[in-house]
Amino acid sequence: MSPSTAPLVTELPLDEQLAAIARKVELEQRITDEECLLLFEKASLSFVGSLANQIRERKHGDTTYFNRNFHIEPTNVCIYSCHFCSYSRLYAHRDEGWELSQEQMLDIVRSYDGKPVTEVHIVGGVHPKMNLEFFAELMRKIRAHRPDLHIKGFTAVELDYMFRKAKMTTAEGMKYLHEAGLDSMPGGGAEIFHPEVRAKICDDKVDGEGWLSIHEAAHREGMSTNATMLYGHVENYSHRVDHMSKLRALQDRTSGFNTFIPLKFRNKQNDMSNVDESTLVEDMKMYAIARIYLDNFPHLKAYWPMLGRQNAQLTLSFGVNDIDGTIDDTTKIYSMAGSEEQTPSMNTAQLVTLIKQARRRPVERGTLYNVIRDYNEIDLKEIESNPLLN
Ligand code: SF4
Repeated sequence: MSPSTAPLVTELPLDEQLAAIARKVELEQRITDEECLLLFEKASLSFVGSLANQIRERKHGDTTYFNRNFHIEPTNVCIYSCHFCSYSRLYAHRDEGWELSQEQMLDIVRSYDGKPVTEVHIVGGVHPKMNLEFFAELMRKIRAHRPDLHIKGFTAVELDYMFRKAKMTTAEGMKYLHEAGLDSMPGGGAEIFHPEVRAKICDDKVDGEGWLSIHEAAHREGMSTNATMLYGHVENYSHRVDHMSKLRALQDRTSGFNTFIPLKFRNKQNDMSNVDESTLVEDMKMYAIARIYLDNFPHLKAYWPMLGRQNAQLTLSFGVNDIDGTIDDTTKIYSMAGSEEQTPSMNTAQLVTLIKQARRRPVERGTLYNVIRDYNEIDLKEIESNPLLN
């Protein structure tokens, strides 16, 4: 058959279309947006799971990363009103929330003196009075107190506000924070990029293009970032494909993303409590399809405080090779939204056990995926009894 008379992949019977996608995965070829949509709409969980696992094992073998980290949430006071948010309080109601001073945040950092944590993760609401200079000074003080700690901080939503208020371009603001001590950025605030969805769930904060341009500026400044997608609410599968397609295109240009983190919408204590949460099958399909589609993202992470530790363990069979870190009960974002993890904290022994139970190899990493320690051959009793390991 000549190329001009060959049927389009989407005109083939379903089993042939899926077989064509499986062949692409085997040959390490990229799948198209149409094929990604087909996987969401028509493929079974076992089909996408087995392809995602094939990719995960090709990229990482059994290695499953975790890190030792803690969070600082400077405030939950926020000028925005995202309808899915269970966490924020408007400035007029700030007496119901919290606003940490620099000294209180430094006290949190000092409370980890002598402990083998490698990363502090700083994100919070967009407070009208906490500006770029306030956070630059905080970066300098943390850096001076503990130079070995990797500072990962600020969503693009927070940075967009800080930079505009400081009348700096994105590139100038990013350079300023980088020089003050910021090492990398997390991936929050992305939600779903498509304007149809953003208009319904978060119409007043930075749009998808703005989010992407801030991450691009961070990459151009030489900083790595992560990317998220809040799924399972009012979006449809085309919106998810559109979101991942924009991330894949930016990654082609910059190679600055480390990790993609699908975030499950939770429906407690927010304006969208009438929207059902996604099922576990839908969650696992989401992880698997992300692994298949985002061929240029090195890592796929399941954030266990949001998903619950048992479900996070299950994702290790659906493409995930990272389950975040010890957290040490320092974040409230998902516990306030109804996650089963109301006091999110796991020590190293618990993380290692969780990973080993899934027949994977637990490896402690730094933020940028430098290997710190392979725990596979270390006896659990030794981990539990050694404060440097646990
Ligand atoms: S999701 Fe972030 S930006 Fe939106 S209201 Fe909550 S804290 Fe503010």
